This record gives sequence, structure tokens and C-alpha cells, in this order.
Amino acid sequence: MELVCLDLEGVLIPEIWIAFAEKTGIEELKATTRDIPDYNVLMKQRLRILDEHGFGLNEIQEVISGLDPIPGAKEFIEWLAPRFQVIILSDTFYEFGMPLMPKLGNPTLFCHKLEVDQNGKITDYLLRQKDPKRQSVRAFQLLNYRVIAAGDSYNDTTMLKQAEAGILFKSPQNVIDEFPQFPAVHTFEELKNEILKASLTHSS
Ligand SMILES: [Mg+2]
Repeated sequence: MELVCLDLEGVLIPEIWIAFAEKTGIEELKATTRDIPDYNVLMKQRLRILDEHGFGLNEIQEVISGLDPIPGAKEFIEWLAPRFQVIILSDTFYEFGMPLMPKLGNPTLFCHKLEVDQNGKITDYLLRQKDPKRQSVRAFQLLNYRVIAAGDSYNDTTMLKQAEAGILFKSPQNVIDEFPQFPAVHTFEELKNEILKASLTHSS
């Protein structure tokens, strides 16, 4: 039995914080784990900046509602879903990710959760667990699934290592150089081929 695990941001949809930073013109919100490797430090900074500007969940969801999947992403999921069980493993939050799922054909999403007060202010966040992508893959393997995983960034690499097959998709060159053990592709057609190559039950 095979399962495909996919990262969300940078793979199927644009980066949500970057989109919000561009829409509002708040440059500081463009920082990612590449700039601030400690995710908790990064998230605390994001929440502080949002609060300083008086932005809450409603304003972010408004930007998210205007976001579209990366061209070809929906068709890719449509191709993938009849062939493999598909799970999206993301470090986003349900409050951000769920409004986008219908645009991708409603795949299953595992991610984190926000705490929001009655005025829409984001007061805190709840990370589901440590190293959630890798832990999810481990759990699927305990259920006797063979996992093929694809993602674009550092926060995907432990998942790619844990999976029976890991693929870098739309990764920046520094990630490709640092993880030469994974095939690196940039188009959905190439990704389909890599998944078929990695599969034991489907062949290209
Ligand atoms: Mg990503």
C-alpha cells in the first residue's frame, strides 16, 4: 500500500505569509525559517507584528481567499488521488489552510492550529507535535504504508528522509545542493514521473 505525502506552501499554493506581507506592504512579515531558523521565535515575531498593525485572522483570511493554487496543482491532485492515498503535511494552521482546500479538490490536511480571541486577534498557536511531518510519515509506516513524499524546503527534509522515497519539488538551489540524495524537479509533469518511478504499484 502506498501513500503520497505532499507539502503545501511552495508546492501546491503560494507562501501565505509572503502573500500577506506583499498585500499589506509589511516587509518584516516576509521573514521565513530560512531567515529565522527557530520556528517559535519566528512565529512570536509574526504575531507581534500583526498585533502592532492591528491585523488579525480576518485580514489574513481575506488575503487567503484571493489566493489561487500554483498553476497545475489542482490538476496534479486530480491525477494523483485515484492512484495513491494523498495526505498534505503542512506547517501552516487549519485557519489558513482549510479555506484553500476546496481549490485543490479537498485533500486531507494535517497541520497546526491557531488560538484566536473573539475580536479575531491571533493570541497564540498550537503546534500539533515536534517534527510533525516526519512523525506523520513514521506513523503511516507503522500502519504498513510505503510513503513517497515531496516538498520544497528545509522543513520537509526530515519527512523526505523518513519516507521510502523523497522528492524535492520547486526547491531553491541551496536546498537542492544541500540534499543531493533527493531527486529535484520543478514541474508537475516531472513530479508525476518521479512519483511513478518511486512507486512499486504504478509504473511510468
Ligand atoms: Mg513549503
